[in-house]
Amino acid sequence: MHYVDKVVYTFSADNTPLISVKSGDLVTFRTQDCFSNQMHSESQLVTTCDYSKMNPATGPVFVEGAKPGDVIKVELLDIQCDSIGTTTTLPAIGPLHDRCETRTKRIPVEGGKARFNDIEFPINTMIGVIGCAPEPGKSVPCGFPGSHGGNLDCKLMVKGNTAYFPVRVEGGLVQMGDLHAVMGDSELCGTGLEINGTVIARLTLIKNCPIEWPVLETSDMWYTLASAAEFPEALRHVSVQMQELVAKATGWDRTDAYLYMSLRGDVETCQACKPCEVDLILRLGVPKADMKKPLIEG
Ligand code: CA
Ligand code: ZN
Repeated sequence: MHYVDKVVYTFSADNTPLISVKSGDLVTFRTQDCFSNQMHSESQLVTTCDYSKMNPATGPVFVEGAKPGDVIKVELLDIQCDSIGTTTTLPAIGPLHDRCETRTKRIPVEGGKARFNDIEFPINTMIGVIGCAPEPGKSVPCGFPGSHGGNLDCKLMVKGNTAYFPVRVEGGLVQMGDLHAVMGDSELCGTGLEINGTVIARLTLIKNCPIEWPVLETSDMWYTLASAAEFPEALRHVSVQMQELVAKATGWDRTDAYLYMSLRGDVETCQACKPCEVDLILRLGVPKADMKKPLIEG
């Protein structure tokens, strides 16, 4: 088992790999919360943070043999969060920003539950930031999503599920961080229950697998994930990627794939806390049981 705990603040081909692993290896990623642990009490406002240190991602990890045009399969074997996290409203972000104060809450997590004021609810620890490096010459801050992955903020990025990312540089350069003990679709105020944690993932190389956007596999669904500044463009991206995958797996043409997707596909939001300078992220899911072949093989 490999172990990594050093962080970076961008997804970039220029990040120096912490370790090099073989396809199929297990890696433990020790991750920091999105504030790089700058938030310590409820009396502290998020505006006191050094914003250049937001959204750290642990890594990158170089996967031997990975070349552009390949895919890295990331099986999320285990995800554990620490026992206290932070959530804050953010100035000028989200639909209610002008109706609320900037406020910090420190929220304890115990026995699989989060305590908020006088109620408790189950956690669902997910990974906010995860992906591979974008194409050479491009450096994307970890707080932003894109076709490489990054700040996808998808509440299905949980233990037991498997994510697939396009490789754009040699080794792929896998990195992840920004766990949320719990978060709702859209992440309305711009933060989840931000928390440190530990992820165990198996990284497997799939050769020659041309996807443009990340794909997520759950026990019963296949999802495409994509981001853009506005809803129509993100919708176009998740739809085109799903159309390509469905057509390939079924042998149908694009029109039949489109008709099928309208009958059985669900479009859901990942992060969509508009207004926000960060792009919104959508996911489009179809039931695995409908597909005679996996959308991604390997
Ligand atoms: Ca995030
Ligand atoms: Zn976060």
